[in-house]
Amino acid sequence: MSEIWQCSASGLHAEFVDGALRAQDIVGAHLERIDAVDSQIGAFLYVDREGAMKTARMQDDWSKVDRIHHPLSGVPVALKDNLMTHTMPTTAGSKILAKFIAPYDATVVERLGAAGAIMVGKTNLDEFAMGSSTEHSAWQKTRNPWDLTRVPGGSSGGSAAAVASQMVPLALGSDTGGSIRQPAAYCGIVGMKPTYGRVSRYGLIAFASSLDQIGPLTRTVKDAELLYRIIQGHDPRDSTSLPDTADPFPMVGRPLRIGIPREYFTDGIAPGVRTSVEDALERLKMLGHQLVDISLPHTEYAIATYYLIAPAEASSNLARYDGVRYGLRQAGTDLLTMYETTRDQGFGDEVKRRILLGTHALSAGYYDAYYSTAQKVRTLIRRDFEEAFAEVDYIVTPTTPDQAFVFGERDEDPIRMYLGDIFTVTANLAGIPGLSMPIGVQNGLPVGLQWLAPAMHDLSLLSVARMLEMDPEEWIGPKGVKA
Ligand code: GLN
Repeated sequence: MSEIWQCSASGLHAEFVDGALRAQDIVGAHLERIDAVDSQIGAFLYVDREGAMKTARMQDDWSKVDRIHHPLSGVPVALKDNLMTHTMPTTAGSKILAKFIAPYDATVVERLGAAGAIMVGKTNLDEFAMGSSTEHSAWQKTRNPWDLTRVPGGSSGGSAAAVASQMVPLALGSDTGGSIRQPAAYCGIVGMKPTYGRVSRYGLIAFASSLDQIGPLTRTVKDAELLYRIIQGHDPRDSTSLPDTADPFPMVGRPLRIGIPREYFTDGIAPGVRTSVEDALERLKMLGHQLVDISLPHTEYAIATYYLIAPAEASSNLARYDGVRYGLRQAGTDLLTMYETTRDQGFGDEVKRRILLGTHALSAGYYDAYYSTAQKVRTLIRRDFEEAFAEVDYIVTPTTPDQAFVFGERDEDPIRMYLGDIFTVTANLAGIPGLSMPIGVQNGLPVGLQWLAPAMHDLSLLSVARMLEMDPEEWIGPKGVKA
């Protein structure tokens, strides 16, 4: 590797353990990279230079044994700004939480800290994670490192762009309907949404609680696994957290039956996406796996179902932001200034739209027609997958019907924005794990392939995706980001 910031997380950790690199050099190199390129990208809302360097200095005093016992020691990580951190602000991309300092860390943040990860900052997102482009952030634009005129995807656009432009090797995002996988696809990196309940949601600012999951954004599948292993596992503070059970036996190392759902290969797919996905399917065949034509018949109702259930849950979750409770918690500093900042600055248009949609769907006269019907269709969508996984080991689809779009293209047309989520929302509705990985570049932009697995097969999903990884040590990044 020519530069420290080009190195994978597992590579950095190994060099730190061996004493080949000091944590201060690793963190310093990434902070310099942030200084050099983030003014073009806009991935970070907050960078904790001092905190990160302090942790690095402390780790440099650790013995080799200490380093080995902390699997992420020496590794810089970025956090989507809807994950609560008590040492950095948490805004969820919203002015209503301007300068809010959480009183505690999210469980995933605690686990990262305990594993030795060095947290460098908080990344941009669509306000309250509602969106597919990061254009709905109340704070700033995040640009796609492959083409600065295009969106990075969303809602975890800041985390995806930070990893793709090599400002950090690892980042966490959250995925309610595709917000990890879609920006991963648009930015040419790996993004994984674990099985619902595998990763604790404690300290994640809730969007739609029955759909939200936290997961990794990385440049290699191996790094995604490294990060996933740290954050997963039972947490008594999240009542939907699953008990710790071993993953079912990984389904690799033998010919697989891979389902290709015909409803996901429609005319609406952009030609470049189709070409790359078809190439990947050819490679799977050449590796000896069997491609099986399957049907997920309720796919056509997925967007309507998701866009009723997610806003309904959001309208209830967002009721707590009444302008009284948050923003005043920070101990000691400048309370009055903060109060001035937060006052009179409410939700953005997209959040208001979701609250209106959600409260309408839940209102007495419409509950049966909308919310209750959507719940029934959600069950049908889940059953589609159960039936499919009785026939096949995994399912493969394009992650998105298209590639990264230009700013403003869908901003004024929410329905068009929503339709782009067609291939990702189903995994959240069904609670199953999904992973997007880069499989090609078309027209100068990356294309993502999505793997879906039965619930609990998170680790097997990660191992199976490695089959298609071109060169895990040599990530082919955007040429556009020059320091
Ligand atoms: N794009 C979807 C939405 O706007 C998904 C967002 C997410 O996964 N957080 O709701």
